[in-house]
Amino acid sequence: MSVFSLQDLRKTVLTSSLEKVYTLQEIARTSFDFPVCAVLGDPIAHSLSPRLHHQALAYLGQNHPEFLEWKYVKILVKTEELQLALSLLHGRKFRGLNLTLPHKVEALKFVQDLTPTAKQMGSINTLILETNGYKGDNTDAEGFRWALKHVFGAMDFSKTPVFLYGAGGCARAITQALIHEGVQDLTIINRSPDRLSNFKEIFNERFPIGVKLISQNALTAYPKGLYINGTSLGLNQEDPLPFPVTALPQGSLVFDSVYAKDGTQLMQIARNQGLKATDGKFMLAGQASAAFAHWTGHWVPPEIFLPGTLAT
Ligand code: NDP
Repeated sequence: MSVFSLQDLRKTVLTSSLEKVYTLQEIARTSFDFPVCAVLGDPIAHSLSPRLHHQALAYLGQNHPEFLEWKYVKILVKTEELQLALSLLHGRKFRGLNLTLPHKVEALKFVQDLTPTAKQMGSINTLILETNGYKGDNTDAEGFRWALKHVFGAMDFSKTPVFLYGAGGCARAITQALIHEGVQDLTIINRSPDRLSNFKEIFNERFPIGVKLISQNALTAYPKGLYINGTSLGLNQEDPLPFPVTALPQGSLVFDSVYAKDGTQLMQIARNQGLKATDGKFMLAGQASAAFAHWTGHWVPPEIFLPGTLAT
C-alpha cells in the first residue's frame, strides 16, 4: 500500500491548479485573498508559465516566505474579451499579467503607460499593476537574448547570416534583440506581405544594412546560418514546418520560439540531422525571469524558471 503524505497532497493540489484554465466568468466569481498573477491568451491550455513562475516563487520563498502565498494562473481570453479582462483583473488587483497570442499588439490600446522598450517594439507581453491601470513592457527580447547565449554560447553576429521566419509580436522582439546583438545580415520571411510592410515601418530606422524582407517561399537557397522560427507554426501537431529544415547545411543553428513539453518537431528534426537546435523553453524562462522581477521586486535567475528545475 502506498503512503500519501501531506506534502504529496499539497503537490497534487498545486499541480492540478497549475494546469487549470480559468474563464473570465470563473475569475469574476472567485475571490482571491492572496496576491495573484496570470497569463492571458487563446489558446492557453499548453502554457507552462504557471509552472515556471511557481518554481520561482518556491525558490524565492525559501528566504522570503511571503511569496509562498502568491499564485499564478492561466486564463482563456479571446480577442474580443481583452479590454474587459484587463479592467476586471485590474479591479481584482492582479499584480502582474503576461500576454501571449493573440493579445500582444491589441493590448497596447488598453494600458495606461508603456516602457520605452514596449514603445519601440509596438508589442507587450508583461503588464505591471499601477494605481489607474496597467503599465506594459516587453521582456521577450531579453528572454531571446538570454536563450541564445545560454544555448549556443557567444556568437559573432557580424559574420552570422540570420533567417527569421515570422513578422508578428514574437518576431518584433527577436529583431530588437538581434539588432542589439549587432546583426549585419538579417533576412525576415513572412507569409503575408501586409504584416511584413507593417514590420518594415516599425523597424525602418533601425534596420542595419543588409536586412532583407521577403515573402514566404521566396527563399530558394539555404546557406549556413541561424534559422529562427518566430511564427506560430508548431503550436499544433499537424502544422507544417516553418522552413525546410532538412535543406539546411551542417553547422547551421535552429531556434524555435514555439515550445512543447518534449521539444518541438522542428527542434527534433534539426537535432536528428546533427544540427544544434533548441525550442522556445529557454526564451520562455528568460522572459519570465524579467517579468517576475517587475512584479516581485526580486531577480530570480532564468535557470530557476526552466521547466522541471524544481519540483512544484
Ligand atoms: P502573432 O500572431 O503576432 O504572429 C504570428 C506569426 O506567425 C505571423 O508572422 C504569421 O504570419 C505567422 N503564421 C501563422 N500561421 C502561419 C502559417 N500557417 N504559415 C506561415 N506563417 C504563419 O504571434 P506571436 O508573434 O506573438 O507568436 C508567435 C509564436 O511565438 C507563438 O507560437 C508563441 O507561442 C511563440 N512565442 C514564444 C515565446 C517564448 O518565450 N518562447 C515568446 C513569444 C512568442 P502572417 O503574417 O502571414 O499571418
